[in-house]
Amino acid sequence: SVDIQGLAKRFGASDVLRPTDLHIADGEFVVIVGPSGCGKSTLLRLIAGLEEPSAGRVLIDGRDVTDAAPADRELAMVFQSYALYPHLTVYENIAFPLKVARLGKAEVRRRVEEVAEALDLLPLLARRPKALSGGQRQRVSIARAIVRRPKVLLLDEPLSNLDSALRVKMRHEFARLHQQLGSTMIYVTHDQLEAMTLANRIVVMSAGRVEQVAPPLELYAEPATLEVAAAIGSPG
Ligand code: ATP
Ligand code: MG
Repeated sequence: SVDIQGLAKRFGASDVLRPTDLHIADGEFVVIVGPSGCGKSTLLRLIAGLEEPSAGRVLIDGRDVTDAAPADRELAMVFQSYALYPHLTVYENIAFPLKVARLGKAEVRRRVEEVAEALDLLPLLARRPKALSGGQRQRVSIARAIVRRPKVLLLDEPLSNLDSALRVKMRHEFARLHQQLGSTMIYVTHDQLEAMTLANRIVVMSAGRVEQVAPPLELYAEPATLEVAAAIGSPG
């Protein structure tokens, strides 16, 4: 589980994230939506440990990780901008976190091939990122994120750089991965269809606060505020 307790972030005089409480159960797929600048990425970065909170705590499986380094939180993050190492091959990119964790060579190979198979990357393992399409790069960054079998996977607009056909394909891919891995997913998107189809629960944010948290259909049928209705395209 992921427990967010009174988590808040100020940059100078602005409350980018107001004190927020959120409980996310094991294996849950939570999607965060809301207008640009409302604090979605900040919330994800706070959970990942890439940003220091001004107040509050983050617990993963009951363990307080607020002061833990990102690598010690049993989570992985996928960014909108792939962030692959350009000088490494696909194989080396995926293997990188395992090498950092000092796994043996045979075990590294086994795990890399397992995720490469799941994400249709086996034929591409010897290539470098610049020789890949956008969708292929995104799958490599997902492979690299899941290769250590994180309990929690954080995804910040992972499909926003892809064309619409690929987005549909990858959306199905995420649903399948979620079933296969059973990991907890926290997924930020601007795409209402992605939110409605992938989420067990949707978190709607507006101006640094959580407006409503509910399953997709409930949210659609009974948006609590106009901001929520706008964010998920409900007639209200
Ligand atoms: P988008 O949908 O455009 O990605 P977002 O909801 O992810 O938006 P954040 O990136 O979390 O928004 O930013 C929330 C607010 O915090 C914005 O107003 C942004 O300008 C501000 N902000 C983010 N990082 C910093 C920083 N390091 N210093 C100052 N302000 C920041
Ligand atoms: Mg963002």
